[in-house]
Amino acid sequence: MSQITHNLMQVKQRLELAAEASKREPEEIELLAVSKTFPARDVEEAMHAGQTAFGENYVQEAVEKITLLAKLRPWLVWHFIGPLQSNKTKEVAEHFDWVHSIDRLKIAERLSAQRSEFPDLADLQVCVQVNVSEEDSKSGVSMSEAEDLCNAIAKLPKLTLRGLMAIPASTLDASSQHQAFAAVRECFNQIKAKHLNDIGYEFFDTLSMGMSADLESAIAEGSTMVRVGTAIFGKRDKITL
Ligand SMILES: *Cc1c(COP(=O)(O)O)cnc(C)c1O
Repeated sequence: MSQITHNLMQVKQRLELAAEASKREPEEIELLAVSKTFPARDVEEAMHAGQTAFGENYVQEAVEKITLLAKLRPWLVWHFIGPLQSNKTKEVAEHFDWVHSIDRLKIAERLSAQRSEFPDLADLQVCVQVNVSEEDSKSGVSMSEAEDLCNAIAKLPKLTLRGLMAIPASTLDASSQHQAFAAVRECFNQIKAKHLNDIGYEFFDTLSMGMSADLESAIAEGSTMVRVGTAIFGKRDKITL
C-alpha cells in the first residue's frame, strides 16, 4: 500500500473516532485533502485511494495541477483555500468548484461576474473566512462583520453561499483552540438561525475548520469539513511562488 493511501486511511480513522467521541455521524464531516506544494501524481494517487476533494492555496500552482489532471476533472472537486488577490480571481472563477477564503465583498463580486462568463460551469460554492484569533497576520473578517458579508454574497449570481471557514492561530493551547472553534460555530449558528428562510441561504451548511494538528477539536466543535494536508501528503517544503 502506498504511503498516501496509508495516511488517508489513518486520517479517516481519526475523523471517525472524533465524530464518535462527539456523538456525530462521520458522514457529516467531509475530508478535504490539501495538496498544495505536492505534485499532480500525489493527487492522482490519493484519488485512486478514493479521495476526490482537494484543496489548494496558490493560484498558479493549482491551475497547473488542475490542467495536468484535466482528464480526471469530472471526478475531482477543487477547493481554493488560500489568500486571494483581485488579480487572481479570474483564474479561480474559471478552474475551481469552491472558494473558502472570501474576506471582502470586492473579491466575491469579481468571482461572481467572472464565473458568469462560463455559463456551462455550476455556481462557485463559497465560504466567508472569519478571523477567529483577531490577529493582524491572518486574513478573514471579524465575526461581527461576517453576517453582513454573507448577506451581500447571498445576493450575487453564480455564487452559492455555503458557510464559514476559519484558521485559529496554531499557537493556541488545546482549550483556547476549542474556544476558538466553538466561537466560529456560534457565529455560524446565529447567522443560520437568523437567515434560515432567506433567499441565498438555502445551502448554508458548511463549517470549514480543522487541519492536521487540530481536526479532533474542530470536529468536537461542529466542523463539517476538515482541511488536511501534512497528515495525508507529508511534511511540506517551504514553497517559493
Ligand atoms: C495548508 C493549509 C491547510 C492544511 O494544513 P495541514 O496542517 O498541513 O493539515 C489547511 N487549511 C489551509 C487554509 C491551509 O493553508
